[in-house]
Amino acid sequence: MPIYAYKCGSCGHAKDVLRKISDAPLTTCPACGAEAFSKQLTAAGFQLKGSGWYATDFKNSGSKAAAPAPAAASDAPAASTPAPAPAPAAAGQ
Ligand SMILES: [Zn+2]
Repeated sequence: MPIYAYKCGSCGHAKDVLRKISDAPLTTCPACGAEAFSKQLTAAGFQLKGSGWYATDFKNSGSKAAAPAPAAASDAPAASTPAPAPAPAAAGQ
């Protein structure tokens, strides 16, 4: 039986409610009686602000068709020799 985190949009009263899936969602706040008691997502720090947007797009992406990028960074003339000693930053040459 899932536990839902409910929160009142009127007084801010929050409560974890043990609900059956077949139960109708709660709407009445037990603290203040306002019809603003709504179910929250239980993940901390992730609350929907009324838009109904869910971040589950990556489940529908299926197989990724990533183009294989050729690694052409073999001959970089500036970084060919390894620096044996740390160069002083104030030298400037
Ligand atoms: Zn309330």
